[in-house]
Amino acid sequence: LGASRTFWELVERRAALTPDRPVLLQDDRTLTFEELRAGAERTAAGLHDLGVRPGTVVAWQLPTRIETVVLAMALARLGAVQSPVIPFYRDREVAFAVRESGAAHFAVPGEWRGFDHTAMAERINAPGVFEAYDSLPEGNPSVLPPPPTTGTDVRWIYWTSGTTSDPKGVLHTDRSLIAGGSCLAHALHLSADDIGSIAFPFAHIGGPDYLVMLLLYGFPAVLFEKFGLPDALEGYRKHGVTVAGGSTAFYSMFLAEQRKQPDARLIPTLRLLAGGGAPKPPEVHHAVVREMGVRLTHGYGMTEVPMITMGSPDDSEENLATTEGRPPEGMEIRIVDGEVRLRGEAVCTGYLNPAQTTEAFDEDGFLITGDLGHLTPSGHLVLTGRLKDVIIRKGENISAKEIEDLLHRHPAVGDVAVIGLPDAERGERVCAVIEQPDKTPQLTLSAITDYLRSEGLSVHKLPEQLELVDALPRNETLRKVLKYKLRERYSGTVK
Ligand code: ATP
Ligand code: MG
Repeated sequence: LGASRTFWELVERRAALTPDRPVLLQDDRTLTFEELRAGAERTAAGLHDLGVRPGTVVAWQLPTRIETVVLAMALARLGAVQSPVIPFYRDREVAFAVRESGAAHFAVPGEWRGFDHTAMAERINAPGVFEAYDSLPEGNPSVLPPPPTTGTDVRWIYWTSGTTSDPKGVLHTDRSLIAGGSCLAHALHLSADDIGSIAFPFAHIGGPDYLVMLLLYGFPAVLFEKFGLPDALEGYRKHGVTVAGGSTAFYSMFLAEQRKQPDARLIPTLRLLAGGGAPKPPEVHHAVVREMGVRLTHGYGMTEVPMITMGSPDDSEENLATTEGRPPEGMEIRIVDGEVRLRGEAVCTGYLNPAQTTEAFDEDGFLITGDLGHLTPSGHLVLTGRLKDVIIRKGENISAKEIEDLLHRHPAVGDVAVIGLPDAERGERVCAVIEQPDKTPQLTLSAITDYLRSEGLSVHKLPEQLELVDALPRNETLRKVLKYKLRERYSGTVK
């Protein structure tokens, strides 16, 4: 199956191999590989009747349900271009994404009709609003043109998280997404006996990547429409999940739950937590492994390159805790002035906006990521922060991540974001924003600087401002901290 060029080829080959095995589990529902294939084909015919053709752009904003995966594969069968929009997004962001992608159709669930999505779709001039969930459109597959044969046409438009600026539209092909999913599969050594789970919205780029893995190995994943405790735990236990994923916020959530009952394994069947997408303090890694009794691997990805490196479960604990793992074959990593650059099959073909594409790739075709890092002698990647996250105080570069990692070890610190704030005298000053909902013992600036000094942090890096918050602002998908919001909030505040 590894040689498949398109999603549809993968779906067909897998359905021929293991038609009756489940691919998706949700609540009490099961979908088999053959049901996925046949359902996608009928839906493709229904979409065709609605005017969708190879190359037509279809945006969709759909909850993470079995039907959404069927619809995505129907669009893949047709060779349409799909632009998934994260379900939490509201009017302004949705209008932006749908308009910018040039969508001719916009799929929303029937139950959202009446909510402003329909009116909005008219405003933004996407004529074919169809409601996928009253029923998926279905038709007779005999009307369908042949499936796409090339995996190198742009078929997916994804939006970046907008952590550093407005979201950028990223162009992917079946080939780039399949390369990302294959890399994930390879690093994790999963098997047909595993039971996976998708903890993020299927509309996230990790969704199709995960699906690639299911199609390659023929094992199922549990889907969650709204991921959170206690439903996640219940689903994991009910379906016997062996491998679960998520970002650091998810591990922390499970860890907190485990601590309520330290003597019983929280999820008895779970053997591997595999996640990524956001910084993971080594402290959190060690605590998860020790207290939950599972392996934990972490990887590096971005909308532009969904899978760059991934820790392998048979690697050493030290490497798993302190690095993002190694790149798979076919992923070239170059470090230029401390910044990570990437070239390989899994890299997007560019951005919707051609000027952004020109800017993002260097003369050798490497994508310039804006992430800082280095490779160890054994070829493991260590990320040290984001270029836009470097604080420049009196001309000295200070890594926010270094200070955050130290603060994470402090017992009274829940989560923390260190940011640079504009400062007339110093250029920027270092501000630590600490999540401390219960405020006991209430942290003070002098207490944390004493602590950081005792940990050996040099004096010029010490925070000069402390803000305590109940909760850091985060995005909805991976619960990533939105530092630009903190910078906006605290910029005018002189301490
Ligand atoms: P935008 O590009 O719009 O500013 P964004 O870069 O946050 O937003 P995503 O594509 O969702 O949007 O996130 C990718 C970024 O997430 C990476 O460039 C990197 O900075 C960060 N990231 C991903 N994986 C890790 C990881 N394992 N450790 C630390 N940071 C990570
Ligand atoms: Mg980015």
